[in-house]
Amino acid sequence: MVFKKKKGFWRLRADPLNPSSPDGFQDGAEAFVEAEEGRVNLKIHLRRERSKKLIDAFKAKLTEPRCEACGMSFAEVYGDLGGDYIEAHHKIPIAQLDRSSTTTLDDLAAVRANCHRMIHKNNLMLVKELAEFLMLRKK
Ligand SMILES: [Zn+2]
Ligand SMILES: [Zn+2]
Repeated sequence: MVFKKKKGFWRLRADPLNPSSPDGFQDGAEAFVEAEEGRVNLKIHLRRERSKKLIDAFKAKLTEPRCEACGMSFAEVYGDLGGDYIEAHHKIPIAQLDRSSTTTLDDLAAVRANCHRMIHKNNLMLVKELAEFLMLRKK
């Protein structure tokens, strides 16, 4: 499956650490219409520690969870299914924090999952930048 993007093309690739993966794509990957999935793998990652308490406090302070980038309100769209759902984005990337620094509520932004992914996908663009981008696209 190949999708056109601004710069060139991207495609789903095989696991570079496991070239014999039966899901491995080769040229002509579009021909794949089914693949075996669901095998169990153990993966170990080092992950930067986040404060769940701070994030919970941040979310508790929000009177109405609304994405700071696109303005979507979960209550309006999802109601009882998940009107209180929102993600907290660290405006200062956690990877840039040293061990002595602390994060405050002001360092967090409320964003929905799609916008959150776009921020991280685009070199941690600012929430404000994504908001401006989306605003321009609406016009
Ligand atoms: Zn959004
Ligand atoms: Zn984030």
